Amino acid sequence: MRLKKFEHFEPRTLSEACQLLKEHAGKAAVIAGGTDLVVRMKYGVTTPEYLINLKKVEGLSSINLVGENLHLGALATLTQVRCSDLVRERYPVLAESALAVSAAQLQNMGTIGGNICLEPRCWYFQQGSSWRQARADCFKNGGAVCYMAKGSTRCYALYCGDTAPALLALGAKVRLVSPCGERTVPIEEFFVDNGMRHTDLQPAELLAEVILPGPGAGQHGTYLKYRKRGALDFPIVGVAAVITKESTAASRLRIAVTGVGSSPLLVVPPADFPAGSGLTHEMINRMAEIARKQVKPVSHMEVSPSYRKELVGVLVRDALEKLAGA
Ligand SMILES: Cc1cc2nc3c(=O)[nH]c(=O)nc-3n(C[C@H](O)[C@H](O)[C@H](O)COP(=O)(O)OP(=O)(O)OC[C@H]3O[C@@H](n4cnc5c(N)ncnc54)[C@H](O)[C@@H]3O)c2cc1C
Repeated sequence: MRLKKFEHFEPRTLSEACQLLKEHAGKAAVIAGGTDLVVRMKYGVTTPEYLINLKKVEGLSSINLVGENLHLGALATLTQVRCSDLVRERYPVLAESALAVSAAQLQNMGTIGGNICLEPRCWYFQQGSSWRQARADCFKNGGAVCYMAKGSTRCYALYCGDTAPALLALGAKVRLVSPCGERTVPIEEFFVDNGMRHTDLQPAELLAEVILPGPGAGQHGTYLKYRKRGALDFPIVGVAAVITKESTAASRLRIAVTGVGSSPLLVVPPADFPAGSGLTHEMINRMAEIARKQVKPVSHMEVSPSYRKELVGVLVRDALEKLAGA
């Protein structure tokens, strides 16, 4: 598991980092905490010739209030995020989801940007070379087959990031920077349901920061994660739910799910879904059923699609019951 040789850059500004990405297009990788990328490099499934390390880019790890919005630099570590008073007081659901990522050591190294951009996972891809050589290459390794969904024409690697559902449920936006300028997009538009390319990042583009809208009064949220073992494990399914009181008569409910596709999914409540007068038992069961129907998982890592769907229903129901009692 020795790393292949690479050249290491430490740019001081985002524009320098983007310029390096542009110069070494197709041969470079961005590294933040490295807790996902280095594992793939060790397996030899990602073999960049140039590593562009963001660690020395100034101002990229700050957590600041700008007016009512909270700006989280892409390089803020998960420990910084979950321990930030601003995050804990205003967006406890995000602190909960950062705490759910693996274990303390990885939270100290792993960044919020890296967690969002986390590569979709697959047993057939994230393996050493001798294991992979035993069968024809899959899409991720330059082949034309997906062992997760045989006969399919696309890669079904599974997105398992823990913080993305909380960010989707909170209505976050991401600011992206490239040599052509910058753009800010709702985080749900940033993700693409394709295991080969699960974000809309363009060539030489970087995630600079996450922007969270002010929570307003009466916002509650929770993140529930189901994993095989209690410690240090990716989610089989993770569900974030956030309810925001918009007026005395109206509330907005946002639910997002991870572990069900190549990107996190925002569950769309029906137009007639009334959350204004509080969550009743009936509404909770209906929403759990809607979420269960909207996810379309494939068989993955020993978990059948039907079990994963069932879990989504259960976690959505549990999350909403928790919010109803809050
Ligand atoms: C044993 C183990 C258990 C784990 N368990 C979990 C878990 O339970 N839940 C979970 O969510 N994750 C888990 N992880 C994955 C990982 O630790 C976290 O997702 C972490 O937050 C990744 O952040 P990083 O900064 O280390 O990312 P890196 O490894 O540095 O980067 C990850 C990917 O994002 C890209 N990237 C990073 N920053 C940027 C940026 N600013 N702009 C554009 N692209 C960028 C990189 O090029 C790379 O492709 C686990 C990892 C291990 C090894």
